[in-house]
Amino acid sequence: MCTFYKRKELDKTLLTLSYKPDKMKTGFDESLRPKEGGGRKEDLLMLPFLLNPAYKDYIWGGVKLRDQFGKDGPTPLAESWELSAHPDGDAVIASGPLAGTRFSAFIKDNPAALGSRCPAGDFPVMVKLIDAAQNLSVQVHPDDAYGMRVEGERGKTEMWYILDCEPGAFLYFGFEREISADEARRRIADNTITEVLHKAPVHPGDVFFIAAGTVHAIGAGILLAEIQENSNTTYRVYDFGRVGADGKPRPLHIDKAMQVARLAPARPDAPGAAPPRPVAGGTLRRLAGCAYFTADTLKLAGRYSHAPGNASFVSVLCLDGQASLCCGDETLTLNKGGSAFVPANAPEFTLEGAGTLLLTTI
Ligand SMILES: [Zn+2]
Repeated sequence: MCTFYKRKELDKTLLTLSYKPDKMKTGFDESLRPKEGGGRKEDLLMLPFLLNPAYKDYIWGGVKLRDQFGKDGPTPLAESWELSAHPDGDAVIASGPLAGTRFSAFIKDNPAALGSRCPAGDFPVMVKLIDAAQNLSVQVHPDDAYGMRVEGERGKTEMWYILDCEPGAFLYFGFEREISADEARRRIADNTITEVLHKAPVHPGDVFFIAAGTVHAIGAGILLAEIQENSNTTYRVYDFGRVGADGKPRPLHIDKAMQVARLAPARPDAPGAAPPRPVAGGTLRRLAGCAYFTADTLKLAGRYSHAPGNASFVSVLCLDGQASLCCGDETLTLNKGGSAFVPANAPEFTLEGAGTLLLTTI
C-alpha cells in the first residue's frame, strides 16, 4: 500500500461525482466537464494509467514479444507501440476510469497532462518494443523540415536500447566511409549497398542514436526498445530481395532517400548520454537527452520517487522484473512489458520493486 502521499480531498470528491466509466470509451464526455467553480478538468485526470500497445505484424517480426514480454498480438509480432498517439497505431488506456480510451483522444482533451515542455497541440514521441527475427530493410528517415514539407509529419530521429540479441547479431549504422551519391545509387541498383554500411556488433545494454538522415537497419536476432519522434515516415533503400505478404517486393523510395541520407559515418555517441549513477531506490542511466526526448533506464532495487512538476509526462516501460507504480491513491503493477503513462500534472509518484524500467520524458 502507498501511504506516502494523500491526494487532496477535493480531487477525491470530483472523481466520485464526475467519473462515469461507461461513457468514457471514446474520449472525454463533455457532460462530465466540471461545472464552473467546480475545479479544472485537468485536476480530474492527473493520475497515472496503464497503456495497451498497438501491434504491427511486419514480415520480419518474431515471437519474442509474445514469449518474453507477454504481448498477445499477431504472429509474426514485429513491433508493439507502447506509447503512441500516432494515427497508424494508437495506444489504448488500460486501467482506471478512462480504460478503453484511445491515447490520442486523452491527450487531445488533456494538454496539461503532457507538460510545459511539450509543443502545443503535438505529441512528440513514440516508445516501441521491436523484435527483429529477420533483418529490417535498409532505410533512412527525413528530418523535421523535410518531413513536414514532403510528408506532412515530423521527421524521425530515433534511439535504440538493445534488450537482447542472438550471438553474432549486428546492425547497420551509417556508412563505413564517406561515399558519393553516384556510388550510393549504383550500389542500391546492384544490391551491394550493405558492403559500404558500418556493421555494428550489438550487446544487451548498447545504445544507438539514429539521427535523422542516418542510413540504418536492425539486424536479425535483435530485440530492442526504440524511442523516436512521433512519425511513421520511412524511406526504404534495400530490402534484401524479399517480398511482402502479398508476394510482391515492398516498395523502395530511393529518390527521397537520396535527398535525406547522409552518405558518411554516423556519430557514434548518443547526445546527452551519461554513465549510471546511484539514486535513492536504484541506479539511473541517461541513455540520451536530445531536443526530442530524454531516455533513462532505472535499475530498480527499492523505492524510487519522481515528481513530474508539470514539466513533462513520464512514460514508464518495464523491461525486466516487476514494479509497483504508486501515485496518490492509485497503484499500478508493472510486469515485464508493462507500460504506464504518468501525466505531467500528476503528483510525485514512486516506483517500488526490482527490475529495469525505461523512463522517457521530454
Ligand atoms: Zn528506422
